[in-house]
Amino acid sequence: MTSINSSCAYCGVGCGVEVSSNLDQALPLATHQIDSLSLTGMAKHPANLGRLCAKGENLLASIEQPTNLLYPQDASGKSISWNDAINTISQRFNEVISEHGPQAVAFYLSGQLLTEDYYVANKLAKGFIGTANVDTNSRLCMSSAVSAHQRAFGEDVVSGNYQDFEQARVIVLVGSNAAWTHPVLFQRMLAARSANGTKIVVVDPMASATAKQADVHLAIKPGCDHHLFNGLLSYLAKHDLIDAPYIQAHTEHFDQAIQQIATDYQDADIAKLTGLSADQVLAFYQLFVAHQQVITASCQGVNQSTLGTDTTNAIINCHLARGQVGKPGSGFFSLTGQPNAMGGREVGGLATQLACHLGFADKERSLVAEHWEAPNIVGHKGLTAVEMFDAVASGEIKAIWVLGTNPAASLPDSHNVSKALADCPFVVVSDVTADTDTAKLADLLLPALPWSQKDGTVTNSERTISRQRGFVIPKGEAKADWWSLAQVANAMGYAGFEYQSAYDVFVEHAQLSSKVKQAYPYKAFDISGLASISYEQYQALKPTQWPINDTSQEGTTDRRVFTDGQFATETGKAQFVYSKQTNLERSPSPINKQNQLLLNSGRSRDQWHTMTRTGHIAKLRGHQVEPTIAMSQATANRVGVSQDQLILCQPVVNCVNEDYVSTKNNATIARVEIDSSISVDSAFMSMHWTKQFSRAGGVNQALDSRYDP
Ligand code: SF4
Repeated sequence: MTSINSSCAYCGVGCGVEVSSNLDQALPLATHQIDSLSLTGMAKHPANLGRLCAKGENLLASIEQPTNLLYPQDASGKSISWNDAINTISQRFNEVISEHGPQAVAFYLSGQLLTEDYYVANKLAKGFIGTANVDTNSRLCMSSAVSAHQRAFGEDVVSGNYQDFEQARVIVLVGSNAAWTHPVLFQRMLAARSANGTKIVVVDPMASATAKQADVHLAIKPGCDHHLFNGLLSYLAKHDLIDAPYIQAHTEHFDQAIQQIATDYQDADIAKLTGLSADQVLAFYQLFVAHQQVITASCQGVNQSTLGTDTTNAIINCHLARGQVGKPGSGFFSLTGQPNAMGGREVGGLATQLACHLGFADKERSLVAEHWEAPNIVGHKGLTAVEMFDAVASGEIKAIWVLGTNPAASLPDSHNVSKALADCPFVVVSDVTADTDTAKLADLLLPALPWSQKDGTVTNSERTISRQRGFVIPKGEAKADWWSLAQVANAMGYAGFEYQSAYDVFVEHAQLSSKVKQAYPYKAFDISGLASISYEQYQALKPTQWPINDTSQEGTTDRRVFTDGQFATETGKAQFVYSKQTNLERSPSPINKQNQLLLNSGRSRDQWHTMTRTGHIAKLRGHQVEPTIAMSQATANRVGVSQDQLILCQPVVNCVNEDYVSTKNNATIARVEIDSSISVDSAFMSMHWTKQFSRAGGVNQALDSRYDP
């Protein structure tokens, strides 16, 4: 029996897995031998302590896809050599750059990529080509939390860890169906409740699987979470339930926030604004202050909103007011959607930042440029996800490389994204399968190593860096994404991409972190302690939580940041942020037509993203077999539809402070599912369906591409 430790490919909980073979042969194995493999949760991984959810337990079934992409392909589907593929990309990119400038080239990345892949993509684009048009699908799930962290703490930092959920006396989940989306962490919460009597509060318009298991479910009106937390901050101030010494010593702008809320809200009734009863609101506020160990975690119900950042700051304000940051069992915690959304942000995966959480000030740019010996370091932020595909549609971007993601299905207004890609002069897609909606639009398809074969690191929601390790010998000519990016960089004539392994990339990243820490000692992100590790140490790297400023800290977990009340802002103080954007005028308009509904989208229990890795696994497909639009019986009666009826869903809704207007001709078709968990006048559709798995396509065809500025 041989075994190897790796990490799960799916969500931001970042569970460790142990893969074992019953053959008397060292891993990796050939694909025809994978029946000899078994997979269990890694007992010593701090994220899961041996647990796994249904998706994790079925990871081995994801290895063999019906249409694994094994060789580079041209637009006709003909296999070509890597040499030809690399030469074509480098030539086309160089032509576009010389004719239209570097901003005409873009990269769209993914929280599925490993940190090393992300690092090389950013270095190539932001340091050598000279375009900051590098964004990631993490923009869709995380950017509101990122911006809120930056505004409040000075840096994109989740200060707590998973143990905080076990030490808390009250857990508040806002816009999160953790029972389905972060199952193993939710199991830890339930276990903590059994042991300690922890109260779990769920703030969600839907009676989700999580809400059904909560002690308190606040079925809030969609788009109104900010009112609940602005009201809570007022309540804390009015009843002198704040930690005044902490506010005085470690924060700024508390008084302004309180005054502005008082001015904007006057005597507004929070219960009426949120659709809750006065008793529910008061009971929640009283529970929030009944214990010092209170943790609030939010997910896409908060993030994917035009008010996501402001709502997140409204939550953080309440924890700052109670002095609850960096302390056991308390604080704000952003639940990350993807396995490596955080690792991508660490190396500058968003168009709005440089590597190691740096921005675009001259000193920051120089530091990165010097480390990379980069000739064309970018001077300002680039286009973010929705803006990027708008620029593809307008012809401003003429060449785009999409890696490990499926924007033709996963971005809102996906019809237009598909059309933009179809019309774009040059589209490169790197993926593990050839039949995603986006791969079908590629001029050039590159076979990427899938989970089980790729090698590198990921960072989970609690800042733990884990190794993902290959245990299957790659079939065909699939390659690591960092490798294909580096080959193209070399072919474009750039120096500094002569990496031999993921280790070389990782150490260069850690060395940059070392320099950043010297220049900006107050920055929280720090992996300088790994800057001089050997190849063997990298191969054996244990799950380790940053900050890591000494090699001896390898394997350290359960750590917190900002424990001393020193933040990563210039003054060292955390910031209360109240935005007029969140004032009481920002509430959803009333439904005013008989056939209108307020639509929310979200995950199903057993599927992942656009189903590219989970859609063909029979055990996972049983939970939902076709796209449905779920609504209560009362809502179905009002709009005049019935169970199992196929209906056309068109985008007529703009959620916040806008009239309900018909905006586009796009639509999707779904079968009505009567579901008592959906609140009145609302509907819910799964986010996963695409044209690859349903001819009707998915919900993103019917969603507007409005986003949080
Ligand atoms: Fe994988 Fe997330 Fe399930 Fe853990 S909780 S096994 S990381 S999908």
